[in-house]
Amino acid sequence: MTNYYIDDQWNLIKSPLSVHEISRLANDYQEKYFPGPKPEVSIQVTNSPLFHGAGCYEPAAKKIWLAERVTEFENTLKIALLHEMIHANMHARGFDADPNHEHPPEFKAEVRRLMALGAYDDLL
Ligand SMILES: [Zn+2]
Repeated sequence: MTNYYIDDQWNLIKSPLSVHEISRLANDYQEKYFPGPKPEVSIQVTNSPLFHGAGCYEPAAKKIWLAERVTEFENTLKIALLHEMIHANMHARGFDADPNHEHPPEFKAEVRRLMALGAYDDLL
């Protein structure tokens, strides 16, 4: 899935993940870690300098935003994607998903559930 190439100075370079690859990853995560109804969520990568942080879930648009700058750091991207997918799935189950609000105990329980399932095994 990740492409590697050698640059002109013989450094091994890992190419950033494309939106297509990120979407495929999200579908894998959805299947593996979120049983039950599947929320209709789109993923968009942004290079806006106004976008801070690694990712954000926009409940009104049911959209996961990811910062382009993290797409070249695969583990960081996966952690951000899992985080936003927890928001998206909780939103689909009727929880408040306002990005300006703090993470409720149910969110933290979801992080622990995913951790127990091994979602972060090779990422942390
Ligand atoms: Zn969050």
